[in-house]
Amino acid sequence: MSKDCCASSKGPLHEEKETVTESCCEIHPPQRCGPAKCPACGELGKTVRHTTLSSLLRPEKRPEIPKQEEFCFCRTRGCEVVYFLPGKILFHKDDLSVPIGLKEPNNPNAPVCYCFGWTLEKIQTEIRNTGKSTAINQIKTQVQAGNCYCEITNPQGSCCLGNVSKAVQEALTL
Ligand SMILES: [Zn+2]
Repeated sequence: MSKDCCASSKGPLHEEKETVTESCCEIHPPQRCGPAKCPACGELGKTVRHTTLSSLLRPEKRPEIPKQEEFCFCRTRGCEVVYFLPGKILFHKDDLSVPIGLKEPNNPNAPVCYCFGWTLEKIQTEIRNTGKSTAINQIKTQVQAGNCYCEITNPQGSCCLGNVSKAVQEALTL
């Protein structure tokens, strides 16, 4: 299963800071942050934009966002750190107003796809009832229709299809 939701879109996009596209994927590639490693778990972070932090942090935490364009996101399951800069932890899981599906694999209600409301439970229920999952196709259809807003809905700041695909595969083997 491809992780790329953009295979059908307009070719490589260059990240000009002010460009707004209808794509969910404007920050692919590169997905590196610096590259910088999470100060807590040591894994390589993934670049997210300022707008992702300002959309998803709790209101009382927003004034603490440093003034700069890009930050690093830690996607490690067991790690409490969410956003950091090289050598500096900025925000933890509790500082966000949404649960982070990637970091809560045992929470069936944590979103997997933030734009269209797919949770692990919703994926599992469909598979229990019908034997298969339509999540990926439904999300792809919405992406093509220009209805995804990953940069402001998803803590990782980018397309969820890789995560959904993994969740579907895990649900199918339950
Ligand atoms: Zn980490």
